[in-house]
Amino acid sequence: MKTAQVCEDKIVIKEIEDIKLNNRKGAIVRVLGCGLCGSDIVKFKHKIVHNGAVLGHEIVAEIIEIDSDTDFKAGDKIVTSHHIPCGECNYCRHGNVSMCLHFKNTNIKPGGFSEKVFVSEEHLKNVAYRVPENISNEEISFYEPLGCCIRAIKRCCLQKNDKVLVIGLGSIGLLMGEALRALGYTVFGCDFIQERITLANEMGIQAFNSKNLEEFCTIIKEKTQDYGVDTVFLTAGADKAIETALKTVRQGGKILVFSSTPNNSGFPNNEVYYKELTVLGSYSPSPADLKDSFELLTSRRVKVKNLTTVYPIEKIQQAFDDTISNKIFKAYIEISKNSTD
Ligand SMILES: [Zn+2]
Ligand SMILES: [Zn+2]
Repeated sequence: MKTAQVCEDKIVIKEIEDIKLNNRKGAIVRVLGCGLCGSDIVKFKHKIVHNGAVLGHEIVAEIIEIDSDTDFKAGDKIVTSHHIPCGECNYCRHGNVSMCLHFKNTNIKPGGFSEKVFVSEEHLKNVAYRVPENISNEEISFYEPLGCCIRAIKRCCLQKNDKVLVIGLGSIGLLMGEALRALGYTVFGCDFIQERITLANEMGIQAFNSKNLEEFCTIIKEKTQDYGVDTVFLTAGADKAIETALKTVRQGGKILVFSSTPNNSGFPNNEVYYKELTVLGSYSPSPADLKDSFELLTSRRVKVKNLTTVYPIEKIQQAFDDTISNKIFKAYIEISKNSTD
């Protein structure tokens, strides 16, 4: 079977031996396609993974072989996430499921950018859903990334009519903005790239160029009766983004950190203290967040059309390059056609 593997500073297509169920509980799925996640880019660019690693986890797939106590069957088209919490450890008991060791150790194997993948019984029971016919593979591939956004939003405990700002309008920023909009909040957005700002505005996010920070702060003040926004979602990792967050959040407001930053710079102690700010992080979704994501996507409350560019697996390197150079919003790697097509 075909896989896309990390090989030094390239992604190369390699044939490996077909995987089989071999008396394991779970399913072998044919991957129809897999979204390219920002975390895949980070792992590739910063060489966090070893050579031979198969990246990708945002899969849409068809079951070809199954031994399961669930009601999934061969031929079903499914989406699944890759990590599952144990539900019992100290992290899980406090709701910090993405810190759970079991969560970090569970995965789909060998990885999403592969013709076939093993999905365990635990995945089928907790984080897999049958895909209805009314939604395209590219759209439903947002199941896991939207789950991440839903988790971040839930962690902020927003109030009805809250005004929020999304800093960074790449694919995950747009997705966060779209989810916040769908849930009824007033959403502002900012970025430096005009194409992103235009698309955000088309999606119902009031988006602005924040290159001139003073000017942008004036706009936000005008739109929030001088208060500043209730919560900032920081989806861009840069010192300038942190500065923007601190200057636009209202006193007593929240800053949700949703990306890493190259300098690992922090939030100034005194601003957090005097302004009574809450700074919190959000990492990876729980099964409950994923359930919400699935419902928001399949009911079409969250719309993700126009965000993806489709690449055949043979062009996966191009997809990585175009994502890194901000040429596209979100890549979807097409790996196999539906067998029913
Ligand atoms: Zn992802
Ligand atoms: Zn746990």
